[in-house]
Amino acid sequence: MFCQTNKELEALVEEARSYTQYGKVADYIPALGKANPTDLSISINYPDGRCVSAGDVQKKFTLQSISKVISLAFVLMDRGSSEVFEHVGMEPTGDPFNSIAKLEKMIPAKPLNPMINAGALVVTHMIKGNSVEDRFKRLLSFIQELANDATISYSEGIAQSEFETADLNRALCYFLKQHNRLDGSVDDLIKLYTKQCAVEMNCLDLAHIGLVFAMNGFDPQTNKQIIPQNVARICKNFMVTCGMYNASGEFAMKIGIPAKSGVAGGIMGATPGRFGIGIFGPSLDEKGNSIAGIQLLEMLSKKYSLSMF
Ligand code: GLN
Repeated sequence: MFCQTNKELEALVEEARSYTQYGKVADYIPALGKANPTDLSISINYPDGRCVSAGDVQKKFTLQSISKVISLAFVLMDRGSSEVFEHVGMEPTGDPFNSIAKLEKMIPAKPLNPMINAGALVVTHMIKGNSVEDRFKRLLSFIQELANDATISYSEGIAQSEFETADLNRALCYFLKQHNRLDGSVDDLIKLYTKQCAVEMNCLDLAHIGLVFAMNGFDPQTNKQIIPQNVARICKNFMVTCGMYNASGEFAMKIGIPAKSGVAGGIMGATPGRFGIGIFGPSLDEKGNSIAGIQLLEMLSKKYSLSMF
């Protein structure tokens, strides 16, 4: 997609870039440790097809936890909300995304929400299909449709790197399996989940997906209702309450838009009725959010009154 660079946005990116020095790139998935911590880019996609950007917006990164909101939309469309919410809750946790602590206290065991790893694993488990390959292919074509980009694929290297080191996620799965929340092979589920997290795109694609959520599931550029309104509403709700992990409250207070982040450094924003935002900045704060990305959003929110509250 053609995207204009914008001097004003460039200046904000340069200002925010100085914050990258206070964070660090994720390395618990070894392949993510290779990212360049000073990278920072943003793309904003408007309903009329206009797009403004700053930084190296062609650079690809993996979705990681941003994929959780997309797989949730997909599974809600596949199975309907009553079936999905039988297995995963709707409450923020206040704990880190990979925590097992609250899961053990829930009787019966049910992850608190679909944006933490335990909840996302339950959601990914519900993706329909005959094999891991088939289920992943279905999800990937949905992502391609959302981004309006049929070339989107995944990074085999990053998926493999996470698969080899995902013992904490395996632990969550075995716990959930013991409590009848999951069935089948845990390694198959981890295979599907790590591929989902390793789906790769650039800021332009991410901003386009953000736009579809901002427009209640409608893509104004292709004139297609890709996600039913009610499903888009549920997803945006989770983005506000749990999208930035255990920093979601502060994010709502300071920035005030539905957003979802991932440990590769991506942030997808959906400014209701206005535009989609895609950000990439792999230097993370201690909660796992892009440190300069949040700074940039805070500056934008103040300058352009983005808060929905
Ligand atoms: N794949 C990552 C994990 O499960 C995603 C986490 C994240 O982006 N917060 O650990």
